[in-house]
Amino acid sequence: MFKNSKKAYSEAKKYIPGGVNSPVRAFKSVGSNPIFFNKGNGSKMFDIDGNEYIDCVSSWGPLIFGHANKRIISKVNEASSKGTTYGASTEIETAVAKKIVEMVPSVEMVRMVNSGTEATMSAIRLARGYTGKEKIIKFAGNYHGHGDSFLIKAGSGAVTLGLPDSPGVTKNIARDTLIAEFNDLDSVKELFYENKNEIAALIVEPIAGNMGLVKPKKNFLSGLRKICDYNNCLLIFDEVMTGFRVAPGGAQELYNVLPDITTLGKIIGGGLPVGAYGGKVDIMRMLAPEGPVYQAGTLSGNPLAMTAGLTLLKMLDKEVYQKLESISKKIEDGWNKNIIDTKTDAHISRVGSMMTLFFTKKDQIINYKDALELDTDKYAKYFNLMLKEGIYLPPSQYECLFLSSVISENDIKKLILGNKKALEKLKDG
Ligand SMILES: *Cc1c(COP(=O)(O)O)cnc(C)c1O
Repeated sequence: MFKNSKKAYSEAKKYIPGGVNSPVRAFKSVGSNPIFFNKGNGSKMFDIDGNEYIDCVSSWGPLIFGHANKRIISKVNEASSKGTTYGASTEIETAVAKKIVEMVPSVEMVRMVNSGTEATMSAIRLARGYTGKEKIIKFAGNYHGHGDSFLIKAGSGAVTLGLPDSPGVTKNIARDTLIAEFNDLDSVKELFYENKNEIAALIVEPIAGNMGLVKPKKNFLSGLRKICDYNNCLLIFDEVMTGFRVAPGGAQELYNVLPDITTLGKIIGGGLPVGAYGGKVDIMRMLAPEGPVYQAGTLSGNPLAMTAGLTLLKMLDKEVYQKLESISKKIEDGWNKNIIDTKTDAHISRVGSMMTLFFTKKDQIINYKDALELDTDKYAKYFNLMLKEGIYLPPSQYECLFLSSVISENDIKKLILGNKKALEKLKDG
């Protein structure tokens, strides 16, 4: 089934570390070899052996309208015929910024970058520059890209490979990153108490998506807002995953809690490499050339990426979110029924079109400690069984499914039936 992929992998390994350009793609945590793809169309992806899959990953989020969306592709083609980059200002950058400001409640001004990692790194620098303080708080199991400050208890990629900390991150940097427990306000208060007037920012995934999908408890996010205000610390929502996905204005709209700075990525580029960070005007004006905090990018605001992003953002109307909810709910209900029927120790955690099937006896995962006890061996088997059913899931228990609006009724039937078969086989060992 995977003959060509196997060959492609051994060739790739000669020239690319581990054969991949992002670790999770190596399928290490599901005990198999990476699949190489060469085509996507709507809800489907095709590998180089000619296998077809219903894609439940959507390139980790960006493809909310599925693969090769006609409108986006045609706009990008049109833009590319006028040149791919100028390294100078274009009007479309303003159009994208204006659109983001309209959509995301707390964002009044925004700077474009090329990835989520760049967005979070820059947001932290800005927060430090603005507050004149140096330490930051992050939560165990939250992932904010691969910036040095964040590679401490960083969730998915790091958990998957068993590398909670990465060599190459200096002790000094690690010392300035304080770790709190997700969904535990007391753990946050304690850090503020022990580090009075030293904390520049608290960064959080408002819905954690990098230890599987872990929802914020009621009052967790509003509690963070209060604690940050009390301590003159900036609150940063990392909405690289949740932005434009759980609602047009992201998790901050859904839970009605406004951060000082928001980081964005994934969906914002419509499938091209884009990230962004934005917030209140007085904070954003600290950035060069208006202010002293430096941040730049040769390809930032690239016209092709901006075109893809703007086209996608304009397509995000109310109906899309209703559709995503209805598709996702049907899949959740079907899988839940299968879990009960097969007496599998598992449950589903879902917000809109993001969800995770957790293999655990627990009925809730609320933090990183819980997540570390998940049955990852079972997930590995499940992942490979689902592949055989023509269903492509995230190759790690610590990741979310990102469902797209082009998943058809027929796809949903296949997803539910495939899940049933996989869970039955799992039970039989
Ligand atoms: C994916 C992700 C990032 C990093 O974005 P990249 O574009 O991969 O650099 C940061 N934060 C969160 C919450 C993410 O899910």
